[in-house]
Amino acid sequence: MQCRTGCGACCIAPSIRDPLPGMPEGKPAGVPCIHLTAELRCGLWGHPDRPRACDGFQAEPAFCGSDRRSALELLEAIEIATLPSTRD
Ligand code: SF4
Repeated sequence: MQCRTGCGACCIAPSIRDPLPGMPEGKPAGVPCIHLTAELRCGLWGHPDRPRACDGFQAEPAFCGSDRRSALELLEAIEIATLPSTRD
């Protein structure tokens, strides 16, 4: 699947645990990455400080759905389902 232009859902919905320039604690879920441009593109594309999680992300229907809204919903649901347990 080709990454949808004008989306940026994967730069908003999920948390990123790796530090990013300007976000040393990583990115909280539901918060737009500070490197997401106004055109909803990655401002760190090709930069060595771009997190590995971002380099490794591949657009696919299970994450991206049929439109931006469904991508945000799917990625939020995955984020919640994969939260570390706090009962340990
Ligand atoms: S570093 Fe780039 S790809 Fe990763 S969340 Fe930020 S804008 Fe998105």
